[in-house]
Amino acid sequence: MSKEDTGVKKAAELLRQGATMLDIACPKCHMPLFKLKNGDIVCPNHGKVIVVKDEEEEKKITLSISLDMLEDVLFKSMNSVVEKIKTDPMDSDALLQIIRYLDAIERIRKIKSISPENK
Ligand SMILES: [Zn+2]
Repeated sequence: MSKEDTGVKKAAELLRQGATMLDIACPKCHMPLFKLKNGDIVCPNHGKVIVVKDEEEEKKITLSISLDMLEDVLFKSMNSVVEKIKTDPMDSDALLQIIRYLDAIERIRKIKSISPENK
Protein backbone atom coordinates (compact mmCIF):
# COMPACT_ATOMS: atom_id res chain seq x y z
CA MET A 1 0.00 0.00 0.00
CA SER A 2 1.41 3.42 -0.94
CA LYS A 3 1.84 6.21 1.57
CA GLU A 4 -0.97 8.22 -0.02
CA ASP A 5 -3.42 5.36 0.31
CA THR A 6 -2.62 5.14 4.00
CA GLY A 7 -3.36 8.85 4.36
CA VAL A 8 -6.70 8.54 2.57
CA LYS A 9 -7.63 5.52 4.66
CA LYS A 10 -6.75 7.36 7.86
CA ALA A 11 -8.71 10.40 6.68
CA ALA A 12 -11.79 8.23 6.16
CA GLU A 13 -11.24 6.77 9.61
CA LEU A 14 -11.03 10.25 11.15
CA LEU A 15 -14.31 11.24 9.46
CA ARG A 16 -15.97 8.12 10.83
CA GLN A 17 -14.80 9.12 14.28
CA GLY A 18 -16.64 12.42 13.91
CA ALA A 19 -13.71 14.61 12.87
CA THR A 20 -14.40 17.47 10.48
CA MET A 21 -12.31 18.14 7.39
CA LEU A 22 -10.81 21.64 7.35
CA ASP A 23 -10.06 23.69 4.24
CA ILE A 24 -6.45 23.91 5.39
CA ALA A 25 -3.77 21.59 4.04
CA CYS A 26 -0.91 20.05 5.96
CA PRO A 27 2.20 22.15 5.19
CA LYS A 28 4.29 18.96 4.85
CA CYS A 29 2.18 16.56 2.80
CA HIS A 30 -0.70 18.79 1.61
CA MET A 31 -3.34 16.38 2.86
CA PRO A 32 -6.39 18.19 4.21
CA LEU A 33 -6.25 18.65 7.97
CA PHE A 34 -8.95 17.36 10.28
CA LYS A 35 -10.37 18.75 13.46
CA LEU A 36 -11.11 16.15 16.10
CA LYS A 37 -13.99 16.35 18.54
CA ASN A 38 -11.56 17.35 21.29
CA GLY A 39 -10.38 20.33 19.21
CA ASP A 40 -7.04 18.85 18.13
CA ILE A 41 -5.99 19.48 14.54
CA VAL A 42 -4.52 16.38 12.92
CA CYS A 43 -2.99 15.39 9.59
CA PRO A 44 -3.86 11.86 8.44
CA ASN A 45 -0.15 11.27 7.71
CA HIS A 46 1.58 13.25 10.42
CA GLY A 47 -0.83 13.09 13.33
CA LYS A 48 -1.31 16.11 15.55
CA VAL A 49 -0.25 19.42 14.02
CA ILE A 50 -0.26 22.83 15.63
CA VAL A 51 -0.08 25.03 12.53
CA VAL A 52 -3.56 26.50 12.84
CA LYS A 53 -3.33 27.04 16.57
CA ASP A 54 -0.03 28.87 16.15
CA GLU A 55 -1.56 31.25 13.64
CA GLU A 56 -4.45 31.99 15.97
CA GLU A 57 -2.07 32.46 18.86
CA GLU A 58 0.05 34.80 16.77
CA LYS A 59 -2.98 36.86 15.77
CA LYS A 60 -4.04 37.17 19.40
CA ILE A 61 -0.56 38.27 20.44
CA THR A 62 -0.31 40.78 17.59
CA LEU A 63 -3.72 42.18 18.47
CA SER A 64 -2.85 42.51 22.14
CA ILE A 65 0.46 44.24 21.33
CA SER A 66 -1.16 46.73 18.96
CA LEU A 67 -3.92 47.44 21.48
CA ASP A 68 -1.32 48.09 24.19
CA MET A 69 0.57 50.43 21.88
CA LEU A 70 -2.60 52.23 20.84
CA GLU A 71 -3.65 52.67 24.45
CA ASP A 72 -0.23 54.08 25.27
CA VAL A 73 -0.33 56.53 22.35
CA LEU A 74 -3.85 57.65 23.27
CA PHE A 75 -2.86 58.21 26.88
CA LYS A 76 0.11 60.33 25.86
CA SER A 77 -1.94 62.38 23.39
CA MET A 78 -4.66 62.83 25.97
CA ASN A 79 -2.10 64.10 28.49
CA SER A 80 -1.03 66.85 26.11
CA VAL A 81 -4.67 67.93 25.80
CA VAL A 82 -4.99 67.81 29.59
CA GLU A 83 -2.09 70.28 29.74
CA LYS A 84 -4.08 72.59 27.45
CA ILE A 85 -7.08 72.41 29.76
CA LYS A 86 -4.89 73.29 32.73
CA THR A 87 -4.06 76.62 31.10
CA ASP A 88 -7.60 77.18 29.81
CA PRO A 89 -10.31 75.18 31.64
CA MET A 90 -12.98 76.71 29.37
CA ASP A 91 -11.43 75.22 26.23
CA SER A 92 -14.41 73.16 25.08
CA ASP A 93 -12.60 71.78 22.05
CA ALA A 94 -9.96 70.31 24.32
CA LEU A 95 -12.66 68.86 26.58
CA LEU A 96 -14.33 67.22 23.60
CA GLN A 97 -10.99 65.78 22.55
CA ILE A 98 -10.48 64.28 25.99
CA ILE A 99 -13.93 62.74 25.91
CA ARG A 100 -13.06 61.16 22.56
CA TYR A 101 -9.78 59.84 23.92
CA LEU A 102 -11.50 58.38 26.96
CA ASP A 103 -14.12 56.79 24.72
CA ALA A 104 -11.41 55.21 22.56
CA ILE A 105 -9.46 53.98 25.59
CA GLU A 106 -12.61 52.48 27.07
CA ARG A 107 -13.24 50.60 23.83
CA ILE A 108 -9.68 49.28 23.76
CA ARG A 109 -10.04 48.03 27.33
CA LYS A 110 -13.33 46.37 26.44
CA ILE A 111 -11.72 44.51 23.53
CA LYS A 112 -8.81 43.52 25.74
CA SER A 113 -11.11 42.20 28.46
CA ILE A 114 -12.88 39.86 26.04
CA SER A 115 -9.59 38.47 24.69
CA PRO A 116 -9.16 34.94 26.09
CA GLU A 117 -5.59 35.43 27.34
CA ASN A 118 -6.71 38.10 29.80
CA LYS A 119 -9.29 35.90 31.46
ZN1 LIG B 1 0.90 15.85 6.82
